[in-house]
Amino acid sequence: MKKQSFINKNLFLYCGLEKEEFENVVPMIMERNVKLVSKCNIGVFLLGIVFIIVTLFVRSEDNLLAYWILVVGGLTLCVYRLLKKEIKGVAAYIFCYSMILVVLAFGMVLSLEPGNVSMPSTSFVVFLVLLPVVVNDKPYRMGLLILLCAVVYLAFSVNIKSGMAVKSDIMNVTTFSILGYMLYISITNRSVKEIFYWTQAVENERIKEEARIAEQASKAKSNFLANMSHEIRTPMNAIIGLDEMILRESEDEKIKRYASDIKSAGATLLSIINDILDLSKIETGKMELVPVNYEFSSVINDIVNMTEKKAEDKKLEFVMKVDENIPSVFNGDEIRIRQILLNIINNAVKYTEKGSIHIYISFDRVTSELKTIVEDTGIGIKPEDKERLFDSFQRLDETRNRTIEGTGLGLSISRQLAQMMEGSIEVESEYGKGSVFTIKVVQKVADDTPMGDYTKRLEKARKEEKEYVPHLLAPNAKILVVDDNDMNLKVVKFLLKKSKINITTAISGAECLELLKANKYDVILLDQMMPGMSGIETLKVMREEKLAENTPVIALTADAISGAKEMYLEQGFTDYLAKPIIYEDMEKLLIEYLGEKGDI
Ligand code: ADP
Repeated sequence: MKKQSFINKNLFLYCGLEKEEFENVVPMIMERNVKLVSKCNIGVFLLGIVFIIVTLFVRSEDNLLAYWILVVGGLTLCVYRLLKKEIKGVAAYIFCYSMILVVLAFGMVLSLEPGNVSMPSTSFVVFLVLLPVVVNDKPYRMGLLILLCAVVYLAFSVNIKSGMAVKSDIMNVTTFSILGYMLYISITNRSVKEIFYWTQAVENERIKEEARIAEQASKAKSNFLANMSHEIRTPMNAIIGLDEMILRESEDEKIKRYASDIKSAGATLLSIINDILDLSKIETGKMELVPVNYEFSSVINDIVNMTEKKAEDKKLEFVMKVDENIPSVFNGDEIRIRQILLNIINNAVKYTEKGSIHIYISFDRVTSELKTIVEDTGIGIKPEDKERLFDSFQRLDETRNRTIEGTGLGLSISRQLAQMMEGSIEVESEYGKGSVFTIKVVQKVADDTPMGDYTKRLEKARKEEKEYVPHLLAPNAKILVVDDNDMNLKVVKFLLKKSKINITTAISGAECLELLKANKYDVILLDQMMPGMSGIETLKVMREEKLAENTPVIALTADAISGAKEMYLEQGFTDYLAKPIIYEDMEKLLIEYLGEKGDI
C-alpha cells in the first residue's frame, strides 16, 4: 500500500507545512489516494477499450472523433473523481498505468500519421489531463513518466515528421509536459493541504468539545463537592456541639465513652470534608496559598502532638530529628505546610504495623528548601502501584488496608500543595519492607535565628497547654450570637452555659441590626451564610450606621479553609471562628475579646 503513495518526503515544502504536520496527515492522504486511484481505474480501463474500438473502426481521416472521445473521457473521469464514488480494487492500480500508456500509444500512432500535424499536442494534452487525474504517484516518478513519454513521443515525431510539424511538436510537448506536471503538483498539493486543514479542524473541534465537556463536568463536580461539604458542616456543628455537652454533663461513664467515640468520628468526618473541599478548590484552580510569618517550632509541636501518641499506641518507635539550624521563623502558608507533613507522617503511622518511624527535617539556605524525610518500616508500596499513589481517591492494596481509615485524597492534595510551594513529594518503597517519603517545599526565611533544640520548646509548650484551664466565667459579659440555624444558636448557648455569659440570639442579619440599635454587647458572633442579609452585608450596614462601633465582631463560618480568616479580616471582621465550633477555640477568642469581663 505504502508504495502506491504519491507522497514524497519533501512534498511538505510545496504545501507550506511543517514537516511534523505533514507527516501526521501522510497516512490519511495515502489512504485517500489509493481509494481515488482505484476509483478511476475502471474508468480508464473502459475508456481504453472504447478508444481501441473506436480507432479500429474509425479511419485516420476521422481521427478527431477519437480524440474527442478521449477528451470527453478525461473530463468524465474528473467528474467521476469529484463524485467520489467508491470502487475498491487496489490491483487495478497497476492496470491504470498500462491503460494510460495504451491511450498515449494509440494517440501517438494516430497523431503521427503523416498529415495529422495538429494531432500530437492534442493527444499529449489529453494524456496529461488523464495522468494527474487518475495516477497518484511520487512526484519524481510522475516527473520521470512525463519525461519518458515526451521523449518517446518526440523521437517518433522527429523520425516521421519534418519541418514545422516537428518544431511545433517539440514546443507543444515541452509546454504541456511542464503544465501537466504543474497540474499534478497542484492537485496533490491541494489534497495534502485540504486533508491537513480538515484533520486539524476536526481535531480542534474534538479537543474543544472534549475540553468543554470535561470542564463542565469538573465544575459541576467541584460545585457539588463544595456545596455538599458546606451542607454537611452545618449539621456537624450541632452534632459535635451537642456531643460536647454530653461529654461535659453526663455522669455515666458508658455514655461518656459513646460520646467520646462520636467526637473522634466527628473529627474524622470533618477532616474528610476538609479534604474534599481542598480537592474541589485545587481542581477549580481556586486554591491559593496564604503566606504568613510563622514559627516553625509550633508546626513541629503540633505534628508531634498529633502523631507521636498514635505511634506509641501501636508500639512503634517514633524518632524525629530536626536540624537545629533551621530558621526560627518562616514566611509561608503554615496551615498547608502542617497539612502536608501531618498527612505523610500520619500515613507512615497508619501503614506501619511494627518497627519504627524516622523523621528528618532540614533546611537548605541556598535553595530555601525545607526538606522532610519520613521513613517507615510499614507495608510498603508495590512498584506497579507507585503511579497511582498520588491520584485522587486512590487507595492501594485495598484488601490489606480495609481496616485502615482513609479516602485516598491526602497524598493527591499534599503533592499538589507541595507543587504550589515550588516543591515536590517523592517516594521510594519496597513492598513489605517500608517506604521513604521525601517532601520538599520552598519557604522564605522571616527570621534567620536558628530554631535550636525543638524538644525543649515542645516540653515548654506542653507544660503551658497542661496549665491551660478552659473555664471561662464571665457573668457580666453580654454577647450577641447571630445565626439563621436555630440548632447552631442552641449549641453556642449550651457550650457557654457554664461561663454564665449573657447570650442574646438573633436569627437574621435584620434582627441583629434591630437589636444593636437598642443594646450594647461586648462581642458579636456573626454567621456568614444567612438567607436575606449575609454576615458580610450585615457588618457593612453596621459600620455604615455606626452601630456597635467598638464591638469586636467575630465571623462564624463553615468555610473552614485556609485564607478564609484573612478574607474575613479584610472585610472588617475582628476575628474568625470556624464551624463546627470547637469549644476551646471559642473560649480562647472570647477571653481575648471580652477583656476584663472575660477574666477568669
Ligand atoms: P489515605 O491514607 O486516606 O487512603 P492517601 O492519599 O494519604 O490516602 O494515600 C493513598 C494510598 O497510598 C493509601 O491508601 C495507601 O494505600 C498508600 N500509602 C500512603 N502512604 C503509605 C505508606 N507510608 N506506606 C504504605 N502505603 C502508603
